[in-house]
Amino acid sequence: MSDAHGHVVPTSSTARRAAALLVDVVEPAVFGPVLAPEITARHLPGEPLPVDEAVAGAFGPFAVGDRWGPPWGTTWFRLRAAVPAGWTGRQVALRFAATEPAEGLVWRDGTPLVGLSWLRPDVVLIARAAGGDVVDVYVEAAANPAVPAHDAGIDWPLLLPEPGAGPGFVLLRCELAVRRPDVYALAADLRAVLALDAAAPGRDPDLLDALDAVAAVVDPDDVQGSAEDGRSALAGVLRRPAATGTHRVTAVGHAHIDTAWLWPMRETVRKCARSFANAVTLMAEYPEFAFVCSAARHLAWVEERYPALFARIAERVATGQFQPVGGMWVEADCNLPSGESLVRQIVHGQRWYMDRFGRECTEMWLPDGFGFPASLPQIMAEAGMGWFVSQKLCWNEVNAFPHHTFWWEGLDGTRVRAHFPPADTYNGDMSLAELLRAPAAHDGGPRSLYPFGYGDGGGGPTRDMVEAARRAADLAGAPQVAMEPLAAFFAAVEADPSPLPVWRGELYLEKHRGTFTSQAATKAANRRGEELLAAAELWSAVRPDGAPWPEADLDRAWKLLLVNQFHDVLPGSSIHWVYEQAGAEHAEVQATAGRLASEAMAAVAAAVDTTGLARPAVVFNPSPYARHDLVDGVAVDVPAFGYAAVDLAGPVATGEVEMGDDWMANGHLRVAWDDRGRVTAVRDLDHDREVMVPGRPGNAFHLHHDRPAEYDAWDVDRSYLEDYEELGGPVEVAVEGPGRVRFRRSFGTSSINQCLVLGPGSRRVDFVTEVDWHERHRFLKVAFPVAVRTDRATYEIQFGHVTRATHENTPFEKARFEVCAHRWADVSETGYGVALLNDCKYGYDVRGDVLRLSLLRSPTAPDPLCDQGRHRFTYALLPHAGDPFTGGVLEAATALNVELAVVATGRHAGPLPASQSFVSLDDPGFVVVAVKRADDGSGDLVVRGHEAWGGRRQVRLRLGPPVARAWRVDLLERPRHEVPLDGDGAVVLPLRPFELVTLRFH
Ligand SMILES: [Zn+2]
Repeated sequence: MSDAHGHVVPTSSTARRAAALLVDVVEPAVFGPVLAPEITARHLPGEPLPVDEAVAGAFGPFAVGDRWGPPWGTTWFRLRAAVPAGWTGRQVALRFAATEPAEGLVWRDGTPLVGLSWLRPDVVLIARAAGGDVVDVYVEAAANPAVPAHDAGIDWPLLLPEPGAGPGFVLLRCELAVRRPDVYALAADLRAVLALDAAAPGRDPDLLDALDAVAAVVDPDDVQGSAEDGRSALAGVLRRPAATGTHRVTAVGHAHIDTAWLWPMRETVRKCARSFANAVTLMAEYPEFAFVCSAARHLAWVEERYPALFARIAERVATGQFQPVGGMWVEADCNLPSGESLVRQIVHGQRWYMDRFGRECTEMWLPDGFGFPASLPQIMAEAGMGWFVSQKLCWNEVNAFPHHTFWWEGLDGTRVRAHFPPADTYNGDMSLAELLRAPAAHDGGPRSLYPFGYGDGGGGPTRDMVEAARRAADLAGAPQVAMEPLAAFFAAVEADPSPLPVWRGELYLEKHRGTFTSQAATKAANRRGEELLAAAELWSAVRPDGAPWPEADLDRAWKLLLVNQFHDVLPGSSIHWVYEQAGAEHAEVQATAGRLASEAMAAVAAAVDTTGLARPAVVFNPSPYARHDLVDGVAVDVPAFGYAAVDLAGPVATGEVEMGDDWMANGHLRVAWDDRGRVTAVRDLDHDREVMVPGRPGNAFHLHHDRPAEYDAWDVDRSYLEDYEELGGPVEVAVEGPGRVRFRRSFGTSSINQCLVLGPGSRRVDFVTEVDWHERHRFLKVAFPVAVRTDRATYEIQFGHVTRATHENTPFEKARFEVCAHRWADVSETGYGVALLNDCKYGYDVRGDVLRLSLLRSPTAPDPLCDQGRHRFTYALLPHAGDPFTGGVLEAATALNVELAVVATGRHAGPLPASQSFVSLDDPGFVVVAVKRADDGSGDLVVRGHEAWGGRRQVRLRLGPPVARAWRVDLLERPRHEVPLDGDGAVVLPLRPFELVTLRFH
């Protein structure tokens, strides 16, 4: 046990006496004589300025006890002092404290030195005063406001910048002091022995003897003079080695810095600088100390804004002490981004590390992700990553995850090694209590990993932690602690012949299930960005005019999309400011992608022969399935990844939808509704079958009370399931025309305006929906009871699908009461099924025969305005014969999400035919997700796709542009082996279920 300051709580009179000695006598004596520097300050209430601009302004007088800082403002303190002659030969420290959770960065001579925080209140400025020293430093202090607790029912403040607000922070301490390393060492020894005793109170008499001895020899009036005797009294018990075969902990320093969360990204930039500066400062003093940094974006920020600090980091990367890990651009959420987004997280991360440091990561490092999909092992393996490190599943509410070191087997059978550090934290404090969790973890094996250091601005590992680790290196009563590179742990496990347990399939987190739904606009913008970037790349790659590949534009747009997939941004668990920025950045992504696609499509259209057409246009289909659609009423068939010229002066198609007062039919489906806007019956005319359960209407809106016990934006608690009302009337029902009926309803302070659409020839029933949403702590779902009997529902995930139970036989199944899916979920019995599709949603639940889609939430923390306002989305019901794959669910979900683009063009001759596919396939079970030029600037074409139906198949793939050679490549586009081209320029791919394939064509 330890108190809030990391002190062990003693349980015997001897230990209590020694603890009092530590706290009341030894620790206060670590710092000797002090002096007050001259303090001046410059207040910048708005956004931060670079150092040269900040220090160029006028500084005014300031004193300890004065107030500074409106929320999010910055105050630069200049501290000047002449070091007294009497301090010559001594170590000189700065002791600095301000209102929590203010943070600071110490600058000297225009370069960042080291960070300050409420957990790191002192730093050494002069290792050994030479005589005549002068201190002249700046502290860039950030007025980062405190936030409320994560309890339920708290409406958080907006936490937006308030440059005009009064100063809310106080400078509590600012002094220079002589630091006494020998007294500090005694304090560290005493802490270590007290911790050993606290682990088994009173049971080791040698420890009690040592504590009695130290209390006897340390002179409270001359701690420095008696420090050596004190250390001698403790040396015996601190020299006792650990027993042979003791569990070995690989301790790596870390600072889990959320890329945005309760602060905006601009503050993350500074949090990174402070924490990384601390890490490299410690490295100079402790050569065995290693630190891992898990987001390329964070280091890239430091490179851009703090070049001198980046140079210090690069030196330590070279020595192996500062280790980039994770290989991703940011620690992304892994539920919501598309498969291709996860690939780009890795590609952009690994490329950056390769480019800057000449190395890439062999592990994925996601200690804080909210669950991990079954496709991740294969994605990792395709990028050469063999290890997965997390710990988040220790947050499971019901079922303890059974393993710490194990094989994780993905949906295609790929296995990677995985490790969940048994300390169950990513903010380890190097306390013995945390360390002792490692040997206690039942399958921890003979060794485990332990990331330690304060995250999110706390400043990373402290000197206290590193000193504690040194003392625990080989110490009776503690696990062996080795500060060593991560790779040493991996290599040792790999060399151990003992078999590892296997976990198959997704790593579902039994917590934070609200993150599939919160911040709906951000999720929708991410989905659109993913689709638009895919289209921009496709058309830019195949355009016939030889225009250069828009490398810089795509790079910037992708990185903006990727950074906003961070595990508190896309999931919806950040403050309002973060979503304002995300909205602007998503708009830029879409504008860039839209512009690139338009330019490239125009170039294609100009080359299409349209001579025979009266009013020509070219219709583009960036999706992997051929499409039949209407453009200005004219029917057009557009091949997959291709285009078709259409004559808009051609005959208008005569699709028919028959309308009644409360029904419509298009020859495939007959849909009936009631006066409450619910669908009472869907008759599948093609297969002579009722889709809905008689007497149980679908399109029923369920409005739940939604007050989770904690973590408002993150969590939906199971109790919400039973606590809802179905929205009733009155509903204004208006038939708008063939195939369209509108339902308008109000409830609470909100309204839903919805158009039920049955297109001519369509087998899809669309619900085009606008919600004006002003609820608080409500969760809106839409439900469809369907006449299908099955124990399993199928859900689309990245690069494939998974099935999950529709019942609650086991505690694991019961805990999955809200799950993540991408564009569709499906229930099928033998020969027939129903899918519920969406164009921007991710939360589903299927219980028994009821399919439900999660539409909107309204948490008030950490963003009190979360999801307030207008939303537009479409979901669709797709009844089908066969299973989801033979039944066309993928095609329908794609059509709902990917729009055809129409480019008007003149009548002209051209080298391109009237219709063409740039990527043709002979099997719908292989889905191409990316067509692009190679990243190396060679002009090679890269095509990525995956087996999507979950079966073995052999597919033939042919590109439109002529190609001479082809290779299977990894995700970084490096050749694995050449693939023969047949006489027609096509490759033939034998595929296993869910196999991910990247091809490169020259
Ligand atoms: Zn985090």
